[in-house]
Amino acid sequence: MKAEDIGSLGIKGFLDHEEGMALYRAARGASPLGPCLEIGSYCGKSTLYLGLGCRESGGILFSVDHHRGSEEQQPGQQYFDPELFDGASGRVDTFRLFRGAVEKAGLEDTVVPVVARSETAARMWSMPLSLVFIDGGHSYPTVFSDYTAWMPHVMPGGYLLIHDLFPDPGEGGQAPFYIHGLALASGLFVEEERVKTLGVLRRHPVGFVPDEVRDRRDW
Ligand code: MG
Repeated sequence: MKAEDIGSLGIKGFLDHEEGMALYRAARGASPLGPCLEIGSYCGKSTLYLGLGCRESGGILFSVDHHRGSEEQQPGQQYFDPELFDGASGRVDTFRLFRGAVEKAGLEDTVVPVVARSETAARMWSMPLSLVFIDGGHSYPTVFSDYTAWMPHVMPGGYLLIHDLFPDPGEGGQAPFYIHGLALASGLFVEEERVKTLGVLRRHPVGFVPDEVRDRRDW
């Protein structure tokens, strides 16, 4: 299937189609350099956009999610979906729908599900990544810990994508926007594009020095 048609599958999720197409383009560009990884796959919508981009170059997408729903998706919370509640375990379970979406899109040889908490998956991680997409839990501690755990694995020339950027605090939570600012202030990344609430950052290649640094003579 084509990325343009993902919308017609009716997969649950909070990702806008234009944002999804930006994920697809970034994964297509990044995946020849190395594996891609997403944090927070939920029911697989973003996974399909990223996965189809990876498949074009024979790449791999690691898709990290504990599949128990994030803080705001628990019973009684704002984004709780009763259809995703598994009575047998008494917990949210998004893995069944995720798996179905990956099958439907023919991405079983591209997507490697990592069913674990992000920090557990990160603890022993040592593989350089061509793309990291941060879209897990949205509390400050969760977003901050995802950023510090995974950002160092983005290879030079690779992408760091952050979802749910709301420059206006009245429109949404500020934690993703906060780490977006940290990434830019680090001097390691430049913003390539912003598509609605998706930020596409690119890590500078080895040896890159920005003009404002190159031109300094105040030693
Ligand atoms: Mg999101």
